[in-house]
Amino acid sequence: MNASKVREEGNFTEEVKEFIPPTHVSTDPYDIEATTGDLSLLPKYHYKFKEEYKATHVIRPGSTDELSKLMKKCYESSIPMTIRGAGSSCYSASTPTRGGVVIDMRRMDKIHDIDPKNMTVRCDAGISWLRLIETLLDYGLGPKCYPTSYKASIVGGFIVTSGKVGVGVLRNGPMKNAIRSLVFVKPDGSVEKITRDSQGDLKLNDIISSFGILGAVAEVEMEITLLNKSMEYVGYGFHTYEMAVKFFRTLKDNDASKPFFLSLSDKNFEKYAHWTYPARAFFVYAVYSDTPSVTSQCLAFAKDVASNLDGLAVEGWYLKEKWRDLADTEVNVGRWCQNLIFQEYLVSDDKLEDFYDFYIKKTSRQRYRNAFYLMSGTKGENRIKLFGLSDIANSREFFGIKAVFNDITNFNYRNNDSLYTIGVVNTQYFLKYNSERASYLRNLKYNLDPEDLLNSYRLTKAKMRSWRLGLLFWIAKRLYKTA
Ligand SMILES: Cc1cc2nc3c(=O)[nH]c(=O)nc-3n(C[C@H](O)[C@H](O)[C@H](O)COP(=O)(O)OP(=O)(O)OC[C@H]3O[C@@H](n4cnc5c(N)ncnc54)[C@H](O)[C@@H]3O)c2cc1C
Repeated sequence: MNASKVREEGNFTEEVKEFIPPTHVSTDPYDIEATTGDLSLLPKYHYKFKEEYKATHVIRPGSTDELSKLMKKCYESSIPMTIRGAGSSCYSASTPTRGGVVIDMRRMDKIHDIDPKNMTVRCDAGISWLRLIETLLDYGLGPKCYPTSYKASIVGGFIVTSGKVGVGVLRNGPMKNAIRSLVFVKPDGSVEKITRDSQGDLKLNDIISSFGILGAVAEVEMEITLLNKSMEYVGYGFHTYEMAVKFFRTLKDNDASKPFFLSLSDKNFEKYAHWTYPARAFFVYAVYSDTPSVTSQCLAFAKDVASNLDGLAVEGWYLKEKWRDLADTEVNVGRWCQNLIFQEYLVSDDKLEDFYDFYIKKTSRQRYRNAFYLMSGTKGENRIKLFGLSDIANSREFFGIKAVFNDITNFNYRNNDSLYTIGVVNTQYFLKYNSERASYLRNLKYNLDPEDLLNSYRLTKAKMRSWRLGLLFWIAKRLYKTA
């Protein structure tokens, strides 16, 4: 690094410390290293990429004003920025791609106002869901929806990654429906309030699923809900996927009362995620939260449907523990291998069988350990997460599994569905299959951020050429077959 660059960085650090407390302006190598990754494991060549584009600073603004000044300073000094919450969305969504500053949002964790009369809360976007849930609990209130990663992940992260699937979504609608307004900081540091009806150059719809490329969500005003007095758990095992899906779909489509949470998993997933697991090949799990009379009706309804589909009831203690451990469930799978690989798909209700058939076709001749987990979103949408448990010493297997996921991804897009999470890693697919949306976002981004300083290499352009990726998977498939 040349002397003037070092001097420039020194000036930048000191200038930022004038408006953000010095302890929150970090150049500590450990802070920097921690923000280069997330839970998704990457092959070696990605590490080379990550090493080269590590951040120089991790800065934690504590208010909208500090965030706005920080982004203005970076923008004026042409310093790349990456917005980061808990880093739980994976696929390098919140890791730097051009060095510069990682903006860690988690110091922005204040609740400004709880309004039980209008059933709304106004809070900073960096607050964790867990802290928000715990605070609202004192008022007998709760968020309408939140991700199962709620223990760590922040409110802003769920908004920009889509908020289409998670706890409460089937019953109360996706995150977008709960938002009344956002305080939004654009890449140049200017602050704008965006409501459901905003008709300016940025609309609420643009921000949903934008993965932070258009600016930072600083504050959120959202609708909340009364906590219900009764919570009941339903769980049945099935011999076949066909029966399990029928049961899942019947619970999902029952307009009398929608589950607060609904999932379908295969036996492998249950085995890797919990200490004990249900006996049958597939397991459907539902949680109801309503008045005592409605939840008991739901239990009776589920029992009735399950008995017609030869479902086997799972013991109550297992169902309660599953709810208690919901946030750890997916993470637990990683304990069983050195190199966990996963991909998340958005699959429509009517394509659940198609997706599974293709998945089985692709994996039946492979020897890798796998798991399947389906979580319901709003009517019509689901997130399917496929896991591959691989060994760090077996890179052929690692690439082989990636190649299988690549085939399933292409199939799912051709079947008019998509990936659930994009990030840096999956941008390639987004550009190929969602080219219209990509070009819309590119124009929007160019107007707001012509130097592409904020969260670059997500949604609008990819770092890797698609032919290289194709070649890589082609080779991987052949090597894995011969391994
Ligand atoms: C165990 C587990 C369970 C999960 N369950 C669900 C689930 O039920 N539903 C679901 O949708 N996802 C789920 N996820 C994925 C992930 O947790 C969610 O997408 C979560 O909302 C991401 O929040 P985060 O704070 O970790 O954001 P990060 O991963 O840090 O960031 C995600 C993206 O948002 C951007 N970003 C973050 N904060 C802001 C902000 N304030 N303004 C603008 N951009 C911002 C980042 O730059 C990045 O592009 C799960 C993940 C795990 C590991």
